[in-house]
Formats: sequence, structure tokens, C-alpha cells
Amino acid sequence: MKQILATISSNVEVMPGIHLMWIEAPDIAAAAQPGQFITVRCGDFTLRRPFSVHQSSLLTREDSGEGEIAILFKVTGKGTLWLSQRQEGEKIDMLGPLGKGFTVAPKSRNLLLVAGGIGIAPLAFLVQQASSQHQMTLIHGASTAAQLYPKSYELTAISYQRFQFVPVTQDGSIGQKGMATDVLPDFLDWADQIYACGPVDMYKAMALSLDPSPLKGEGKGEGEKRSKLKLRKCQVSLEVRIGCGFGACYGCTINTRKGLKQVCRDGPVFELDDIIWQEVRIWP
Ligand SMILES: Cc1cc2nc3c(=O)[nH]c(=O)nc-3n(C[C@H](O)[C@H](O)[C@H](O)COP(=O)(O)OP(=O)(O)OC[C@H]3O[C@@H](n4cnc5c(N)ncnc54)[C@H](O)[C@@H]3O)c2cc1C
Repeated sequence: MKQILATISSNVEVMPGIHLMWIEAPDIAAAAQPGQFITVRCGDFTLRRPFSVHQSSLLTREDSGEGEIAILFKVTGKGTLWLSQRQEGEKIDMLGPLGKGFTVAPKSRNLLLVAGGIGIAPLAFLVQQASSQHQMTLIHGASTAAQLYPKSYELTAISYQRFQFVPVTQDGSIGQKGMATDVLPDFLDWADQIYACGPVDMYKAMALSLDPSPLKGEGKGEGEKRSKLKLRKCQVSLEVRIGCGFGACYGCTINTRKGLKQVCRDGPVFELDDIIWQEVRIWP
């Protein structure tokens, strides 16, 4: 973990209200693993704001220079608004890489990634890192075509043979109409492992899939279909409000089936079936 004053190389609004920022950070670019995050001091706010590492130039660009990382962030409040207004050449106070990221079991061949909205941020890094050795399918759910990951065509081009991008939009403007979780069952037989990042409702829908008992009005077969998810280990990135970011303040402690855990230090990646959803307060 390093605290650095890092120079912004670029800051572009790539989708409405969503910025892609590249930052010079050689040590973090070399050390970061998919699912890990950094924190940024945003203006005068005491609490640093956490952002997943979205890409490392050392993995993704030929002109990687000394090493940059990218964050992909949505403007949701004052901190992210401040960050969105920063210009190329300005310096930001950054800490990272933090937390524990996604893990891929040595025997796994087929990886299924499920992103809800801005949840694409850490999963794109996993694609960059793992697609040379694994078959990967990325389901990205968004409200409309304009909110879909803008670099999806580049991800496809990088490893065309091994990577499949499945867009799903709520208004049906591109891909299947509906939610990312609607198409998830189609890939359960194929997937060895599942990785997800998105809103809590998406995780709850996925957690429901762990319960094989039929829901009201559902045939027995449907419940069994949903229960297939239980057989695939599923890792999710939990984005609760974080205090210090490195385990000192206990502000992000959650109760899991494996006891009390700090999201910033033990996570943010957890096994989906370890989370006790009734007890997680994603946002106060
Ligand atoms: C480990 C981790 C990784 C993250 N990675 C990313 C990322 O890659 N890209 C990205 O856009 N965001 C990410 N987030 C969320 C991001 O940190 C928050 O959006 C940001 O801190 C908001 O700061 P703000 O000052 O703009 O908003 P605030 O003024 O602090 O809050 C404004 C509103 O934003 C919403 N909000 C703020 N923080 C969160 C949060 N953590 N979870 C859910 N809702 C929130 C709430 O509705 C809140 O009322 C991540 C969070 C965590 C914990």
C-alpha cells in the first residue's frame, strides 16, 4: 500500500455522468490485482473516496510508460463531482492498492462476469488480466445503450476468440431487454466461476438463486435451475461506505457467515453465499 501524489494523465466523460481517469502511479499499476481499490482525497472531505482499479496500463497498453492506472467513476455526490472536474496535469492524493481482490481457481476455465451499471469498473480489469488464459463471458446490464461500457468493442478485439460481451438494457435499446440477472441462468451450465459487481438488488437477486426451493408459482425445475448457481462459486465486490480504507477504523465491519469482516481489509470481494444480506447496510 502506497500513499502518493499522483498526476492525472487524462480525465474524460466517457458516458453521461461517468468519467474515465488515467493516473500516473507506477507502483500501484504494477501491484494492483482485479477487485482491489484505491482511495482518493477529494477536495476538503475528510473521508477518502474508494474506487476500484479499472485498468493498469502495464497490462492493457503498449505505450504504458512507467505505469498508470485507470478508474471509472460515476458522479454521485460532492466528492465524485470534485474529482470529475480535475484536469490533466493536476495532482491527486491517492492510497492503494487496497483490499483483497478476485481469485481464480487454477482448474477454472470458463469465467462468467456479471456487471450492473458502474459495476463494470473492477470486472473490466479482470477481463484484461485473465482473458489470455480463460474463456470469459461478460454480461453488462445498463439502463440504456448510452450507459453501456464504451470500450466493450475494444475488449472484444483484444481477445476475440476467448471473450464474449453480452449487453442487456432495461429499455431494450441494445441487447436483450431486462436485467443482467435475467440472462445469468443461460450461462450457469457453462461457467466454472462467477464474478459480480453491481447494486445490492442485483446481489439479492443472485443470492435468491442459491435457494433451490421453488418460489411461489414456480415449477420444481425452475428452483433447480436457480440452484445451479450454488454449485459455482460466486464472488461479489461489496461497495459499502468505507472509512479509513485499510482496516484501522472498523467503520465498514459486516457480519458474515464466517464472522465479522471488514469490507476494506477482508474484502471488498466476498463469496456471495457468505454474506448475510439481511444484516448488510450497503448505505446508511
Ligand atoms: C471498494 C469500493 C469500490 C468502489 N469503486 C467504485 C468505482 O469503481 N466507480 C464508482 O463510480 N464508484 C465506486 N465506488 C463507490 C464510490 O466510492 C462512491 O460513489 C463515492 O465514494 C461517492 O462519493 P461522493 O462524495 O461523490 O458521494 P457522497 O456525497 O458521499 O454520497 C452521495 C450519494 O452517493 C451514493 N453513494 C456514495 N457512496 C456509495 C457507495 N459506496 N455505495 C453505494 N452508494 C454510494 C449514496 O446514495 C449517497 O447518498 C466504490 C465503493 C467502494 C466501497
